[in-house]
Amino acid sequence: MTDQQLAQERDRRNVTVIGAGIVGLCCARTLQRRGCSVSVIDPDEAGRGTSYGNAGIFATGSVLPEGKPGLWKRVPGMLLDPLGPLTIRLSYLPQLTPWMLRFMANTTPRRVEEISQALATIVLPGLRHYNELLDDVPRDQVPIRQQGCLYIYPNAADAAAAKSDNATRTRRGVALEILGPDEIRQLVPAIGPDMAGGALATQSGHATSPLALSQLLAARIVADGGTFVRAKATGFAVGESGPTHVHTDQGDFPVEDLVIAAGAFSKPLAKALGNAVPLDTERGYHVMLPTPEIEVRVPMLISSLGFGITPMNEGLRLAGTVEFGGLTAPPNYARADALLINAKRLFPGLKDAGAERWMGHRPSMPDSLPVIGRSSRFPHVFFAFGHGHLGLSLGAVTGRLIADLVQDRPTAIDPTPFRADRF
Ligand SMILES: Cc1cc2nc3c(=O)[nH]c(=O)nc-3n(C[C@H](O)[C@H](O)[C@H](O)COP(=O)(O)OP(=O)(O)OC[C@H]3O[C@@H](n4cnc5c(N)ncnc54)[C@H](O)[C@@H]3O)c2cc1C
Repeated sequence: MTDQQLAQERDRRNVTVIGAGIVGLCCARTLQRRGCSVSVIDPDEAGRGTSYGNAGIFATGSVLPEGKPGLWKRVPGMLLDPLGPLTIRLSYLPQLTPWMLRFMANTTPRRVEEISQALATIVLPGLRHYNELLDDVPRDQVPIRQQGCLYIYPNAADAAAAKSDNATRTRRGVALEILGPDEIRQLVPAIGPDMAGGALATQSGHATSPLALSQLLAARIVADGGTFVRAKATGFAVGESGPTHVHTDQGDFPVEDLVIAAGAFSKPLAKALGNAVPLDTERGYHVMLPTPEIEVRVPMLISSLGFGITPMNEGLRLAGTVEFGGLTAPPNYARADALLINAKRLFPGLKDAGAERWMGHRPSMPDSLPVIGRSSRFPHVFFAFGHGHLGLSLGAVTGRLIADLVQDRPTAIDPTPFRADRF
């Protein structure tokens, strides 16, 4: 075979992606645009998993891990506050403990600095990669707005506590404008008196419908010859050089290259293919308000309360909070109600007629970094999961990195911090 034929073969791989969330769809679409044949396996419609209900923020300012030095001192207070950002289901505690110990080990100043550096390499170019991935779609059909993201500090203590986070953001190259209460009020006139200031991450954006974004990617994949199989992957037939077939509840499907992008449900699939990863889930909730009766044009993050407020096509979405409770426990919608109570404190005029509540599973790694890379055991198996609080922001950049790895090209970003065998 000539060099040219080898390069063509490398570029025209047949790739099967397991999982049609935003991450799997971005991987499939990027590979397809680069000449690969793609098929996507998911028992559900594209974008109906966690990617459906998130806060929709392309959080280019999120260059800090979830765990920070001294966090353990604040955890008891958070757990005791029914409106606080964190709950743990006691029955889940034994299962959660190993993950939590790893999480705490990643809150030392040295680890936080290393993680922040790694996050910056994928978070900062996140939105640019969406623009590139969707550059064949007319601009007015892309459900993404680039109007920044406002961090809101409800009180002086939150404003003071945010100073060191903002210093880190600035150091990493996040474009940030620190704003006083009057400047915030100009941007969001409906905000009430409980507000001590904020900061505008000017290069962030938001999805006016995260579902529409997934559906757009899925439609482009189908239009260009990609296939979707409605089936749940249950295991693999493995030959000498790797998996030859995916077993599903709808039969077996042959595979050449394989990308595991099943979000919070990826752990057993990755284990069957060579890597035992400490993936768990941080459950989160949203409340969708179809007629909020206040005007909000810029998405907001209230970090101290652990949620975001985002203007979307269907209304105003309040989304966030963290609940440790595993993959199978039923939702506790009191967590969603807490979002509404907190939002009404910030926006006294907010109305909740017709509110809809939702719960989803963030796929979370204990070091706040996703797994993006090759299986340690099989060279044609790739992992793209564990994006935690940032899966929407990181979908397109993950697709780019996975495509570079599948096609054996030099990677635009150093993949080392995201390797599956880093634990
Ligand atoms: C309340 C909340 C707010 C959030 N806000 C933001 C935000 O503002 N910005 C941001 O960047 N991120 C945010 N996130 C995080 C983000 O939503 C997730 O990181 C992201 O959706 C993960 O995408 P995914 O494609 O990995 O997983 P998913 O969207 O869950 O997709 C995984 C897919 O895999 C499929 N699947 C599972 N098991 C199998 C199997 N065995 N076989 C085949 N298919 C399978 C599922 O059906 C699903 O369709 C938020 C999350 C929550 C919960």
